[in-house]
Amino acid sequence: MDRQHSSRYRVVNTVRRHKWISRVEIAEKTGLSRSAITGLTHELMRQGLIIESEDGDPTNTRGRPRVKISLNPTAGYVVGVKLSLHQLSCAITNFCGDVVHSLILPFNGSQPPDYAADIVETAVRRCLGDAKIPINQVLGLCVGIPGYISHAEGICYWSPVFDQPNVNFQSLISSRFDFKCFIENDANLIALSLHWFGKGKELETFAVVTVEHGIGMGLITNNRLYRGANGIGPEFGHSKIVFEGRPCRCGQNGCVEAYVSDYAILREIDPYFSLESYNTNPQSFHPMIEQATKRALDGDKELQKVFNEAGQWLGRAMGNLIAIMNPPTIFLTGEGMRSGVMLADPAREAVLNYQLAGNQFDTEIIINPTSDDIWAQGAAALVLEHLYTTLSG
Ligand SMILES: [Zn+2]
Repeated sequence: MDRQHSSRYRVVNTVRRHKWISRVEIAEKTGLSRSAITGLTHELMRQGLIIESEDGDPTNTRGRPRVKISLNPTAGYVVGVKLSLHQLSCAITNFCGDVVHSLILPFNGSQPPDYAADIVETAVRRCLGDAKIPINQVLGLCVGIPGYISHAEGICYWSPVFDQPNVNFQSLISSRFDFKCFIENDANLIALSLHWFGKGKELETFAVVTVEHGIGMGLITNNRLYRGANGIGPEFGHSKIVFEGRPCRCGQNGCVEAYVSDYAILREIDPYFSLESYNTNPQSFHPMIEQATKRALDGDKELQKVFNEAGQWLGRAMGNLIAIMNPPTIFLTGEGMRSGVMLADPAREAVLNYQLAGNQFDTEIIINPTSDDIWAQGAAALVLEHLYTTLSG
């Protein structure tokens, strides 16, 4: 595992994955010699990045408790921010990625980038103040944004949260803080979160499809986030399922998003729905989709039909995804999964109906409940990954 990384990265990452682990086990899992592990852990302890404890395990028949190692949770803190069309969420995690404090501020789509950066700064400083964490203990910040985001360049080529394309948001937020700042697509952060902390921890390859205001996707292949040739990665939500089909928010027609997302459902149930006004003020539509979902779950048959149809479209699109990628697992998550089985059951059914004849290897589809902690931990994972890779040795 991780043979392309430095020895120190491999040790830190192995300790992270196993919470408490002995030096012998680290040697086994990394393939490094025991003497190398002794030297590396000594140095990491000297830097305050790891701590050790005697586990006192009663099953240890040698009579001597084995010393185990863990990341030092207070070695530093990481801040994650997620910009959505209806709110800004901010969370602080410790060095282990555990969320220690969070807050939510109102936010709206189509904002000037400077204004959005001001709100991010306000949220980060207030969150740190509330948690009583000095800003000099922050190791980095990552902002998750929906849209076409190049993490490497720090540029948001398009996002419904900004009023203009081609925003160098990384430099805008970096100018406000002394620590390292990153931006990343929000679905990619959920993929990272599941891989580092969640149900994808033991999986080398999997896909995540997020259903919200839009449809997103993150892909982990061979334990790495796949970002594609352009640094942006897959745009599942804007792959086409009906050529010349329904108008999409992106300006094209027939995208998955135009059939499955929150606004796609609102458009089907509200004869006065306007994509233009949705694009201008998506926040105002958020209570509408929540109410429609509740009414459908309470038994409104007409509304249930709309959700079921959206689920079928989602399943057809996932059938294409499986035909192309054949991931062993797809996680379905995002606020849109508030509709639960109304969307998920028809989606699963369509996946089965459209799978290749003779397929013996069903892709597992797991509904993963969404929470602000999930993306915050993804943001933490991204920053910690950068920190680990900068550990020399
Ligand atoms: Zn589109």
